[in-house]
This record gives sequence, structure tokens and C-alpha cells, in this order.
Amino acid sequence: MGSLEGRTYVVTGAASGIGAATVGALAATGAHVIAADLVWADAQRPRDGIEPVVLDAADPSRWAALAERIRATAAGRLDGLVNAAGITRRARLHDVTPEDFTAAFAVNAAGPALGIQALAPLMAAGSSIVNVGSAAGVMAHYGIAYGASKWALRGITKTAAMELGPRGIRVNLVSPGFIETPMTESAPEAFREVNLETTPLGRAGHADEVAAVITHLLSPGASFVTGAEVAVDGGLAGHGGGLPIARALDPEAYGA
Ligand code: NAD
Repeated sequence: MGSLEGRTYVVTGAASGIGAATVGALAATGAHVIAADLVWADAQRPRDGIEPVVLDAADPSRWAALAERIRATAAGRLDGLVNAAGITRRARLHDVTPEDFTAAFAVNAAGPALGIQALAPLMAAGSSIVNVGSAAGVMAHYGIAYGASKWALRGITKTAAMELGPRGIRVNLVSPGFIETPMTESAPEAFREVNLETTPLGRAGHADEVAAVITHLLSPGASFVTGAEVAVDGGLAGHGGGLPIARALDPEAYGA
């Protein structure tokens, strides 16, 4: 995959779930990680060598402050950004409020765009950005504001890849399916059960499995990959509704 040793990355949503696993995976390769989240409780503080930073990903002034801080340290240079911060909004169309849309879009869509805007100027050719989307961004989703914000993030990713390509900076999207994290812990049990039933691999994913793909996309091993979307979902989105049909036709073969 190519070494990330000595490189510097910013990871948002770094205190929990997929972001925290990404911080761990990057640090294990010898990278320096600026680990950004809304708050850092003492118990969550990352280990030595990882720099915790308080950042609201929806607030452009916090991104500007982070850019200034990096300019003043870490040799003023950054090798990449992982936008893993995210919030869920679970209301369906019937119940959704304007606030649900505002909040979901501010953190899940505008946040990554603002981060790229603030930090890309610190990046040289060979740098890499990964946005964390969702299977909810490629299909219909019960939580309409969340799903729509993740569809928006796909467009932001592709536009950023187009704009930053001439500078040699790659931008890709990773779309997780059902992953065991504090976010999904708070989901209704039925959501979990049916997700697993409709995931061809038949299980939940682990945050480390998403972090491994993110880390690969950051690395020189993915040097010609940009504007791409990588599903890390056990096959959930790929069957596009084919699995329940196949299962109805041949329950034994398809693990009914
Ligand atoms: P999580 O809730 O465990 O962690 C999210 C982290 O983001 C938290 O530490 C939270 O404090 C932080 N955060 C929230 N708003 C923020 C803000 N404004 N600024 C900075 N940090 C903020 O969730 P997770 O499951 O690890 O999710 C990580 C990403 O993966 C999210 O973008 C989520 O939408 C996406 N995702 C998760 C799953 C899943 O099954 N867990 C599936 C698809 C996509």
C-alpha cells in the first residue's frame, strides 16, 4: 500500500467509531494524526503522538483556525484529510423538520466541503482526501434528511476531485453499510436486524474494516484513484434489492 510514515493527516469525528478507528490505523503506520472532534472527554483522549483538536466541522471559522494552527506547526503541510464526522437524523418524510435538513446537511455535506476548502491549500501533489458517505447515499433511506445529505456528499466528492485533480490531490468517498459504532448502537433493533438480513455477508461491519479502506485510499497504493466511491458494506447496496428476490426463489441457496 505504501508507507504513510511521517505524513500528517486530519481526521474529523475522531473521538468515536469509524473516525477513531481511522486515527488508530493511521497512527499504527507511523503517520502523525490531528484528531478533530466536537469535544474530547478525558476517557476518549487519543494516545501519545496523536494530536487532539476541538473542531465543529460545520463551522468555517473553526476550519480556518485549524488551518492556521497547521500552518504554524507540522512543517505547515498536510498530506490528507478524512471527513468522518457525521450525525444521523432518523425522521421519515412524514415527520422530518427543516431543522433535520439543516443539521444533517451542515455536518454531513457542507462540513466536508468546508474542510476541503480550508485545508486543501496546505496540501501538495500526492495528498489524498477521503469523505465518509453511506450506503444511505446510494439508495432510498428511511431517514430522509440523513440520506439526502449523504447523496449530496457524493456530489461534493466528485466536484472536489475534479477541482483538485490538476493539483495532484485525490478525493474519494467510502460508503459504509451497517457498522458497529455508537451511531448504530442507538438505532432501533429492527434497523439492525433487517440491515443484517439484507447484507450478503450476513453480519455487521467493524470500524476497523472501514478504516483499512480509508487508509488505503490515503496511501500511494491508490495513486490513480480519484472521484471514486468505494462501498464497505458487506454487499448491502450492490444487490440493489436482488437479495430478497433471490432468497424467495431459492431460500436454501440464499440463506433465508
Ligand atoms: P459515531 O457517532 O460513532 O461518531 C461520529 C463522531 O462525529 C462523534 O465522535 C461525534 O462527536 C463527531 N461529530 C458529530 N458532529 C460533529 C461536528 N459537527 N464536528 C466534529 N465532529 C462531529 O458515528 P460513526 O458510526 O463512527 O460514523 C462516522 C461516519 O460514518 C459518519 O459520517 C456516518 O454518517 C458514517 N456512516 C456510519 C455508518 C454506521 O453504520 N456506523 C454507516 C454509514 C455511514
